[in-house]
Order: sequence, then structure tokens, then C-alpha cells
Amino acid sequence: MPLVRYRKVLILGYRAVGKTSLAHQFVEGKFVECYEPTVESTYNKMVVVGKDEFQLQLVDTAGQDEYTILPHSFIIGIHGYVLVYSVTSLQSFQVVKTLHNKLYESWGKTRMPVVLVGNKADLSLQSREVKTDEGKKLAESWGAIFLESSAKESQVTQGIFMKIIEEIDRVDNSYSRS
Ligand code: GDP
Repeated sequence: MPLVRYRKVLILGYRAVGKTSLAHQFVEGKFVECYEPTVESTYNKMVVVGKDEFQLQLVDTAGQDEYTILPHSFIIGIHGYVLVYSVTSLQSFQVVKTLHNKLYESWGKTRMPVVLVGNKADLSLQSREVKTDEGKKLAESWGAIFLESSAKESQVTQGIFMKIIEEIDRVDNSYSRS
């Protein structure tokens, strides 16, 4: 019987960037148009990546800003992060930078599995404020994975959560080798 591994992943970012919509699309397979600010919700989903099965616990947090003090629960017992900004909001891009810095300080020297997501890419023609290249460069500087997404698109959204699971394993393996 394959071993089922448990992974706990946080979705972080400024408010209204699409954190809840991405979590919904991933777990329920649909896009919900309404906007209600989240307090904090947890979702569980079994995910198969390659030959392995994972019990993914996804925490959709209330939005953060530059001034948010991150609680210990954002660090302890967390395997990886999906940091989300909206390509239509420069401010949300600034916020993910601040969040990454704060998380990184707490992780110390340990490598931190991160997928950086530029969401609302479907609105890019009308109202883009952050270029794809800027997102890519930021993720590169962190050694993180970068994706642009639309929570309206199921496959792209699935890809985000597959990537974070792969990234957690990759970081873990590179550790045990060093
Ligand atoms: P959160 O506060 O970060 O959890 O953001 P929500 O998921 O609640 O989304 C905020 C608003 O943006 C809602 O009106 C969503 O319908 C909308 N939204 C979320 N993701 C997308 C997306 O990828 N494209 C578009 N066009 N709208 C989105």
C-alpha cells in the first residue's frame, strides 16, 4: 500500500487577490464570483502526485498587509507556502515581498518551500500593474517556483498545489543529501 503523507500548506497574501477563489477552485472545482473576506478556513484534500499520495491540509488565511505580525501558527508545523498577489495590484506585489521577508526571518537558515502566484492573469490586458517578468525575477531571487494563474481556470489552479507539494519534497530531499 502506498504511504500517505501529510502536508500542511498556507495560502498568504494581501486581501482580495484571490486566495479563497484559488482554494475553492482547487478543492471544489469551481469559481465562485462573490467576495466575502475570509477569517480563516481549512480544507483537506487527497492529492496524487506521480506515484505518491498526499493528505493536503490547505489553510486559507485572512489577508495580510505590510504591518501584519505573523503568528507562530504560520511557521510551526507548516511545510510550505503559496504566496499570492494579483497582477492587477502593485500593492499586493509589495505585500508578498514583505511577507516573504518575515517568513524567511523565522525559518532561519532552513530552506523554505514557496510557490509565488500572480493571480487574476485573465485581467492582464485591461488592468495589469505587475509584469510577468517582475514576478519571475522575484521568485528567482527567492529560489521559489513562479506561476501566473486565474482562479477561473481549473487546470492552472491545480498546477499551483501540485507544484507546492513537489517543491516541499524537493527542498526536503536536497536537505537530506547535504
Ligand atoms: P481573497 O481575499 O484573497 O481570498 O480573495 P477572493 O478569493 O475572495 O477574491 C476577491 C475577488 O476577486 C472576488 O470578487 C473574486 O471573484 C475575484 N477573483 C479571484 N480570483 C480571480 C481571478 O483569477 N480572476 C478574476 N477575474 N477575478 C478573480
